[in-house]
Amino acid sequence: MARGVPRGGAAVPVVSLPLLGEVCASERGVMPPRAPETARGGGRMVDSHGRTIRDLRISITDRCNFRCVYCMEPDVQFAAAANLLSVEEIVRVARVAETLGVRKIRLTGGEPTLHPALGEIIARIRRATRVEIALITNASVLTREKLRAWKAAGLRRVTVSIDSLRADRFARMTRPGAGVTPETVLAGVEMCLAEGLKPLKLNVVLIRGFNEDEAADLAALARRWAVEVRFIEYMPLDSAHAWDAGKWVSAAETRAAIEGRFALVACGDDDPASTSRTFVFADGTPGRVGFIAPVSTPFCGACSRLRLTADGMVRPCLFSTAEWDLRGVMRGGASDAEVAGFLIDATWTKQAGHGIAGPGFEQPARPMSAIGG
Ligand code: SAM
Ligand code: SF4
Repeated sequence: MARGVPRGGAAVPVVSLPLLGEVCASERGVMPPRAPETARGGGRMVDSHGRTIRDLRISITDRCNFRCVYCMEPDVQFAAAANLLSVEEIVRVARVAETLGVRKIRLTGGEPTLHPALGEIIARIRRATRVEIALITNASVLTREKLRAWKAAGLRRVTVSIDSLRADRFARMTRPGAGVTPETVLAGVEMCLAEGLKPLKLNVVLIRGFNEDEAADLAALARRWAVEVRFIEYMPLDSAHAWDAGKWVSAAETRAAIEGRFALVACGDDDPASTSRTFVFADGTPGRVGFIAPVSTPFCGACSRLRLTADGMVRPCLFSTAEWDLRGVMRGGASDAEVAGFLIDATWTKQAGHGIAGPGFEQPARPMSAIGG
């Protein structure tokens, strides 16, 4: 059960579901309702609140070699291989989405670098589109050769997730495969930088009782490499449905902890559609610190994102409790125009906000790893 809300509301019980890789029947929609003809005729993915989709997150696998405590439990069940999108299907959605205005595609998961055809996916999206291709990874299996090949294929940006610099905590938080340590991840970051995959970002999730006292140490990585370190508030998207306000660390608390060591100055140049509020170091040292605060400061108003799960469901929002079966539509022989219409219709259903802190919030059945973060 997830419980607790951060801003003083009543505890919200959430029913957990046994099968985590698959979505439950009530959450899966087959076809989204048809959007109004004005939206359909515009050739863009616009929702009923006037927001336009520019950014598509594609989960290319729900598998991972980590079991981060805030993401997936050791016994998480993955979708059947036959239900995962093929390379062909992933590239097709990317191509159609670009015609509807998508300018950036982030390949995610699960752990996208475990996908055996990642290089081919990047190369084929590059050939089919002009979108910016980004990747988010736990950096546990990177090599210079792989990064060079992915960059040559068209990869432009990498985000690396790292939650602790201390080996024992890293192991407790991420439950990684044998031999993976914080040094593995730090070496992965250095490989990305050496291969010119810049600007690089680091993602951190702080969980009370695990790593909340490492905020300044992790922020110091921004100074070490002149990169951006982004602190993401822990969201109720864990497969255990064990989120509670007691484990949650606010962006404000994180910022105060960092400012105890490094004074920060707001950049003031954040894109309104960006999820991050960014700061530079007051002493002029290069590097930036970002705060992504979906729980304490929801940024839904300017959201420009749409998500495609590894098993081919379109999720209008991370916190959607409805998702739409694009895989079934594609495998049913839909034309590109029909796939485009489906994406427009699905976008129209995007909710105004996720309401995490509100009464009646319902945690989606599927964890972040299945949705694609
Ligand atoms: N495996 C890759 C990784 O960890 O970078 C990509 C997928 S992971 C789901 C994408 C991002 O989601 C990571 O930065 C991870 O820290 C974040 N994430 C996962 N579960 C989360 C949660 N419950 N709350 C906040 N962020 C979460
Ligand atoms: Fe794997 Fe990323 Fe989830 Fe951690 S956050 S379990 S690395 S998908």
